[in-house]
Amino acid sequence: MTTMTRRKSHLAAQKRYRQTPDGREQARKQSEKYRNNNPLKIRARQILYNALRRGDIKKAPCEDCGSDKAQAHHEDYSRPLDVKWKCARCHTDHHLGDAK
Ligand SMILES: [Zn+2]
Ligand SMILES: [Zn+2]
Repeated sequence: MTTMTRRKSHLAAQKRYRQTPDGREQARKQSEKYRNNNPLKIRARQILYNALRRGDIKKAPCEDCGSDKAQAHHEDYSRPLDVKWKCARCHTDHHLGDAK
């Protein structure tokens, strides 16, 4: 069997799976997860942005290294104004630390 036909039959199997109750349930769960995760994040950013514009919240230097190019980091998107300021490097480090 060539790579091409293998890929085709894999796609066909996926398509068949999506038409089963199991597959449909999984697709539903996946889109639910996406909807549940992202609006909060987007909303948190918007609220924070508005607060920054109004001057309710002030940007601060990176709390780890003191760099003034800090980005807002949310520990919890349900608390939009509860942010930590971290530069790109410390921010990435912080998230990599989470994954460990
Ligand atoms: Zn930093
Ligand atoms: Zn973050």
